[in-house]
Amino acid sequence: MQPTMTERLYFDPDHTLAFDARVTHVVEHEGRPAVLLDRTSFYPTGGGQPNDTGRLGGAEVVDVVEEEEGRILHVLAGPKIAVGDEVACEVDADRRRDHMQQHTGQHILSAAFEHLFDAETRGFRMGVELSEIDVELEDPSDARIAEVESLANAVVFSDLPLRIHTVDREGAARLPLRKQSEREGILRIIEIDGFDWSPCGGTHARRTGEVGLIAVTSVERAKKMARVTFVCGGRALADYRRAHRTALETARVFSTGRDDAPPLVGRLVEENKALKRRVRELAEIASEVEGRRLFEGAESWEGFRLVVVRLDGRSADELRLLAHKVVAQGPVVVLLASDEGGVARLVFARSAGEALVTVDCGNLLRAACEAVNGRGGGKPDFAQGGGPNAAGIDAALAAAKAMVG
Ligand SMILES: [Zn+2]
Repeated sequence: MQPTMTERLYFDPDHTLAFDARVTHVVEHEGRPAVLLDRTSFYPTGGGQPNDTGRLGGAEVVDVVEEEEGRILHVLAGPKIAVGDEVACEVDADRRRDHMQQHTGQHILSAAFEHLFDAETRGFRMGVELSEIDVELEDPSDARIAEVESLANAVVFSDLPLRIHTVDREGAARLPLRKQSEREGILRIIEIDGFDWSPCGGTHARRTGEVGLIAVTSVERAKKMARVTFVCGGRALADYRRAHRTALETARVFSTGRDDAPPLVGRLVEENKALKRRVRELAEIASEVEGRRLFEGAESWEGFRLVVVRLDGRSADELRLLAHKVVAQGPVVVLLASDEGGVARLVFARSAGEALVTVDCGNLLRAACEAVNGRGGGKPDFAQGGGPNAAGIDAALAAAKAMVG
């Protein structure tokens, strides 16, 4: 195939989105049909900016690819198109505007980093929802990011014109370019009215006002760089709506206004921590009292007492704390059980002392666990376990009690 020069209408500052063109070649691209045109306004993926989509002679343009020789392939889905056909073309205006806003916004944002902190942009990627630039800035503090954002938006609010200069390398050397181009031959320089000059082949707004709000959504430090994620124009509006809705829904949970929610939530978290501390202290006191009461009310055996109690709803931690309190009262064997949401919990303990050395809580527990279809173990003076059959708790306690006697 002969190389073909396609007239690039997307460089046209008038934003030609509807145009007529002639099909010069029909080819295949990765298994799909594709055509070359004598002129096109479909932007091919490049320079960090995704391709345009749209319609071409009744077919759908699903991808636009620029090959090394400068051939622009329009990858199609739909009816077949033949060489020589004159086709009516239309670029998807919403997608183009979105890309144009993010891309031009990137020029402004990168220039603002350079103006304020001499921080160069090393990379740019435009995603479906977010875009990001890698900036040579070691300390991207909140204050600095806010300064950059303010300058970028001041440039938007001033509605400055963008100008396109077509120059050779000598001409480019006379301009205060933010970054040098590695391209040979004629260069396309995008000027934002005295604020920024950059060589670029992308699609741009005619005035900075078209970009709309520029908002930084997050900053990530990576080595000596800052990865700055941002949204512009329509995406900034969508992001604001989402953030606003989230903030309102959160505030509603706490029955407060949107802007009052953060300090209120902060206070509630602190209160919750203090309450948990207080609950732990009170549980300690309560189990002390309960432990003494259980010891005093227990049946006496030869030289020690036997406490056998079922306390449904208690956790293993609560049973353990209580067992230790009972054991501290004097010579005793304590067999505690609980049905915690249908699960059996067992905690057995005994005091030290000569009368009790023959009682092995580990053995008692292993035997008791059979009745609750569970497992557990421990030492002669303390053992814990449980099982999924809470209906067997009474039988488990009876089995252990029989072994003590
Ligand atoms: Zn550009």
